[in-house]
Order: sequence, then structure tokens, then C-alpha cells
Amino acid sequence: MKIVVTIKLVPNPNAEKRIDPQTKRLVRTGVETVLNPYDEYALEAALQLKERAGGDTTVTIFSMVPDSLKEGLRRALAMGADDAVVLSDEALEGSDVSATAFAMAAALRTLTFDLLVVGGLTDDSSTGAVPGALAEHLGLPCITNARKVDIKGDGIEVERETDSGYQTVHGPLPALLTTALTFGEPRYASLKGIMGAKKKSIASISLQDLALDRPVGASGSKTELRSFAPPPVRGKGQVVEANDGLSGAQAIFDFLASKRLV
Ligand SMILES: Cc1cc2nc3c(=O)[nH]c(=O)nc-3n(C[C@H](O)[C@H](O)[C@H](O)COP(=O)(O)OP(=O)(O)OC[C@H]3O[C@@H](n4cnc5c(N)ncnc54)[C@H](O)[C@@H]3O)c2cc1C
Repeated sequence: MKIVVTIKLVPNPNAEKRIDPQTKRLVRTGVETVLNPYDEYALEAALQLKERAGGDTTVTIFSMVPDSLKEGLRRALAMGADDAVVLSDEALEGSDVSATAFAMAAALRTLTFDLLVVGGLTDDSSTGAVPGALAEHLGLPCITNARKVDIKGDGIEVERETDSGYQTVHGPLPALLTTALTFGEPRYASLKGIMGAKKKSIASISLQDLALDRPVGASGSKTELRSFAPPPVRGKGQVVEANDGLSGAQAIFDFLASKRLV
């Protein structure tokens, strides 16, 4: 079984983010790049499946990323993925969601896989629109928000996290799966994994290899960022002092009741 996991490299979520007022794009230079945290859950799901399926099951990482940053994927290889493929091309710069998903789908078509595991969201742009667009371009059934997945017969059985509980669904393969944050904590890379990752392959695909029939990058992007503003500064909190737990609880209850929250 061949599993491909999409991983976006994003600016460290703890770093202060800045948008360049000229280009209206997120400033990525000078900021540490890390694996998109949501994608670590997708990788964890794939690695768990690989462990259970055994045999010749492989996990390949796919990322659309500038060539200069691709080494950031070594961490995913150290966690246990077998190899990585990147789509890198300067002409992809400025791609919006539509152009990104179109280019990613074209590159993914060059790989053979039974299951494509995609994180539900990115930490930097957070549209959550890429998985559905990929499924549409690739003609794959899309099962979202998985908290558990297993191979059943010639398909997959998935527990999907919902607002009120979970659903169990069955789908054929090949399929696209997105993972929920309840899948289970992503594993740490072991020292052996870190050493082994140095020798694993990161292959590159460029736009020339894909012969796309529509433009991508800034010229192929119809989305325009018109304006942006920092979030409003948080107002001062209200401190309630109480002599004991009971009067503290009462004060909290009165406060919530005054806001009609209880
Ligand atoms: C006008 C415009 C210009 C932009 N220019 C740039 C730019 O120059 N550089 C830039 O980096 N971004 C740019 N962006 C942002 C870029 O379009 C989005 O980051 C991209 O479309 C993915 O959307 P998302 O991050 O919201 O993904 P989501 O839909 O939130 O992601 C869901 C999942 O899709 C997968 N995924 C998404 N993107 C990738 C990827 N690149 N590689 C592998 N897996 C992925 C991940 O598994 C992720 O968990 C631009 C956006 C706009 C609107």
C-alpha cells in the first residue's frame, strides 16, 4: 500500500508574523520554518496505518515548497516517512488557493498512491480549502476530520469527528483523508530516526515536468488581498477578589449571569 501525506512548511506558529505592506504577503524570510502542526497529525495517521498494514507499505511526503526550504522536511522523514517529493518552482510564488491546489494536484498525479492524507488546515493561511479542491481535481472521494482509520477489505473505515460525537464511514481506495486533532499526539522523532532521515531521498518536480494548461503563481491567481489590519488590542480584564471558594464561585456565576451566559 502506498500512502502520500501532504505537508506544508509554515513559519513557526510562535514567531511574530508580519505582512509586507507592499506585496501584501506573509513575510517568511528570517522566520524559522516548521512542519505545519496540523500535518503532523496527518503523518501520524499514515505512520500508524503503515505499522498496522506492515508488508511493503510506504509513506511518502509531498510538499509544494521553495527549493531552499525543502530540507525542513527532514523532520517528517525522521518521524518515520520513507521519502519525500517536492514541487518547487519560482513561478509558483504568489499562488492563491485555487492555483496552489491545481499545481499540487498535477504533481500528485505523477505519484502512485492508494491513500492521500492531508491535514485539515494550515497554521499560516488557514483556509481549509485545499483538501476539497485536491479531491475534486484528482477525482477522489474525500473523507474529512478522521480521528481513526483502518483498512477494511479493499477500502478504509474511518471514524469522523463531528460536533456531536463521531460517525463511522467506509470508503473505497484510492481516497483522500483529512485528519482531526483528536487523532492522537504526533510522535517525536527518535535519534535513530533523525540519523536515518539524513539518507532519505527528497525528489524534486518542477512546473516543466507538469505541462499545466493554465497559469499558476501570481498571474494565475484571482484572489487579491485588498486590505489587512492587526486584531484589536485586548481590553483590560476584570479581577474579582473573593475571601473563599464559595463566594468566588458565586462571583463568577453572577458575572456570567450578568452577561446572560448561564
Ligand atoms: C493572493 C495570494 C497570494 C499568495 N501568495 C503566497 C506565496 O507567495 N507563498 C505562499 O507560501 N503562500 C501564498 N499564499 C497563500 C497560499 O495561497 C496558501 O497558503 C495555499 O493556497 C494553501 O492554502 P492554506 O494554507 O489555506 O491551506 P489549507 O487549505 O488550510 O490546508 C489544508 C491542508 O492542505 C495541505 N497543503 C496546503 N498547502 C500545501 C503546500 N504548499 N504543500 C503541501 N501541502 C499543502 C496541508 O496538508 C494542509 O494541512 C497566497 C495567497 C493569496 C490569496
